[in-house]
Amino acid sequence: MGKTNLKGCTLTQMEEFLKQMDEPAYRAKQIIKWIYKGQTEFEKMTDLPKDLIVKLKDRAYISMINIYKKHESTLDETVKYVFLLEDGNMVESVKMKYSFGNTACISSQVGCAMGCTFCASTEGGMVRNLSWGEMADEVIAIEKDSNEKVSRVVVMGSGEPLLNYDQIVQFIKVMNSSLAFNISCRRLTVSTCGIIPGIIRLADEGMPITLAVSLHAPNDAIRNDLMPINKLYPILQLLDACKYYIIKTKRRITFEYALISKINDSEKCARELSNLLKDLLCHVNLIPLNPVEGKQIERSTSSQIRRFEKILMDSGISTTIRREMGSDIEAACGQLRRSLLMR
Ligand code: SAH
Repeated sequence: MGKTNLKGCTLTQMEEFLKQMDEPAYRAKQIIKWIYKGQTEFEKMTDLPKDLIVKLKDRAYISMINIYKKHESTLDETVKYVFLLEDGNMVESVKMKYSFGNTACISSQVGCAMGCTFCASTEGGMVRNLSWGEMADEVIAIEKDSNEKVSRVVVMGSGEPLLNYDQIVQFIKVMNSSLAFNISCRRLTVSTCGIIPGIIRLADEGMPITLAVSLHAPNDAIRNDLMPINKLYPILQLLDACKYYIIKTKRRITFEYALISKINDSEKCARELSNLLKDLLCHVNLIPLNPVEGKQIERSTSSQIRRFEKILMDSGISTTIRREMGSDIEAACGQLRRSLLMR
């Protein structure tokens, strides 16, 4: 019989595993704490008795993703990781340092099926979902490598998290759990391109995490061109789902809007967006587009971005322009994995 991988075991599963070895249930919590500290060797779990360690070595193991490449920004303290998964696939994560602590931006799928025209993650399509254990590994590996705590997690790397729903929810529970990472829901963000059934389910989950919705357009005509998913889940229906999320969680939604020159950055677009969002409890994050090689789209000028911001602010909509981090290390959205795949 093969060994059991304890990474990816819930507390109940771990207790069951221990029971089968005639061990007391409370050991499960001890082992779980070690796992989330990044320990993979049973001998180093110093509060476990020697005979249990022998049994564990015989019957179990703890998988861990490996750092394949690491790029450190010379402009700021952003670090980009490319991780190698057990099956040879690669995913990217980014660690960003802010005055309030470290934020980990993690991937939820290998590749992505959504086909947004401005995004690098989607080229090559979706390969597979990540398990919640692999997503937790992204955070564990970042903490272990940097020897620093992560205090916020944003699921904004490659993939569409709400199409990997069960694994995302379990991942959030682990991040939130006092046994594991103990990060409060408001410091956990899931970003979606607008998967309506996923938003509704998440609203009913009773986990008031921050929801970020990638909007990028004020109407269906523009959004259909940029984001094929809009044909299935058009803007007005998407906003209805957002309203439901706000009512159920009492949380403000973040709308992400990447400004692309001459496509979605006109003053008319800004006014249309203001009208669309004016009655919603929301925040708009304007993102200077990260240019992706081979795509004929350009970022808006900074004066255009500021004009766009002003129109939203004048309508009473809370708006910020995202500060760029790690722009010297291809830290944006699937760029590094893509550049490695293309070599
Ligand atoms: N699938 C999810 C999460 C991953 S993408 C989603 O769509 O939200 C994370 C964010 O980066 C999204 O807002 C996405 O639209 C944005 N993004 C992708 N490519 C970008 C680019 N080239 N420049 C700026 N933002 C980009």
